[in-house]
Amino acid sequence: MIPYGRQSIDEEDIQAVVEVLRSDWLTTGPKVEEFEQAFAQYVGIKEAVAVSSGTAALHAAMYALGIGPGDEVIVPAMTFAATANCVVFQGGAPIFVDVNSNSLLIEPEQVESKINSRTRAIIAVDYTGQPADYDQLRTITDKYGILLVADACHSLGARYKDRKVGTLADLNIFSFHPVKHMTTAEGGMITTEDSDLAQKMRVFRNHGITSDHHQREALGSWFYEMMDLGFNYRLTDMQCALGINQLRKLPDFLKRRREIAAQYHEFFAGLKEIEPLEVREDAIHAYHLYVIKISFSGTKNQRKRFFQKMREKGVGVNVHYIPVHLHPFYRKRFNTGPGLCPVAETEFEHILSLPIYPKMSDADMQRVISAVNGTVKEIREEIGYANQEAI
Ligand SMILES: *Cc1c(COP(=O)(O)O)cnc(C)c1O
Repeated sequence: MIPYGRQSIDEEDIQAVVEVLRSDWLTTGPKVEEFEQAFAQYVGIKEAVAVSSGTAALHAAMYALGIGPGDEVIVPAMTFAATANCVVFQGGAPIFVDVNSNSLLIEPEQVESKINSRTRAIIAVDYTGQPADYDQLRTITDKYGILLVADACHSLGARYKDRKVGTLADLNIFSFHPVKHMTTAEGGMITTEDSDLAQKMRVFRNHGITSDHHQREALGSWFYEMMDLGFNYRLTDMQCALGINQLRKLPDFLKRRREIAAQYHEFFAGLKEIEPLEVREDAIHAYHLYVIKISFSGTKNQRKRFFQKMREKGVGVNVHYIPVHLHPFYRKRFNTGPGLCPVAETEFEHILSLPIYPKMSDADMQRVISAVNGTVKEIREEIGYANQEAI
């Protein structure tokens, strides 16, 4: 089965981790700062704060912004659950906003109507790897004096109007899960120009304690104080060593993702039942996911059958995502449900994620393309027979 996403690890990565295993610091040593600095430099921003996952990064961001009970944070309906969960971790309420039907990105026009005196921030999601419309969102956040957060877990390496992802919002969130652009097994990062917010998040990731073990060792001191309730969200030196090495290869990883996307794009242009998501002209896409919309005219939705047929052909297609407000937890806790974000709900029934990852060979890519082509033809025929029977 060709997976929808997969890590790319080489001997250098393995060596980098092994070296740390032989050193004095397995966690919170010199590699953390080295990784943070390399990442900040890549993005072109002042601060990068490493944490144990993308979810921890989102949580730290909500903490740093002071989100708490009674606060509302706007999130798009089409995203991974963690984007909304981080608001709930802090006792706030996520307010779901619908997406654009062509790009499935948060619809800025829909955002403004959801803002009230309790609204504290917007979390934009760069769904599949294309940046959301940050200029429009920034106009709104400036108008209401609220903050802008980017869940950029899909878009490391992307650009918006020639500005790099990681610099577009007040706080920018990344994940280093194995299916993402680069990996530390589990891991996450927040980038920001604001050193005060960065410092808050560094304390938050270490139980709310103001100094870490490495710093105390350097000062020859045992003294520490816990200033606030924090978590253990630290990223280990082993993981940071892996991250430093992966970051060097990121440009190559991105290049290969874009090559695959271009091939898919070219081929699917000839299939009327397959529609790739719209990419804005001022965006450079990072292609964490390659999502297609499937619709066979004059018949009921064929996504389920399409999914099964692709899996039978050994292609590990997937669906990203069930709109978050439809999950049982949100229905129960926040009284959400069908009808709240109709575009996301409708489009969700038609989307399918095709395999895309840097190590994917040309042969694998051809297999995916043939499987899509074959599946379209099979379903066309089956529908044809069904229509004839109906006559
Ligand atoms: C992967 C992902 C996350 C969570 O990252 P983890 O590292 O898995 O915790 C959050 N938001 C989006 C959009 C993601 O794709």
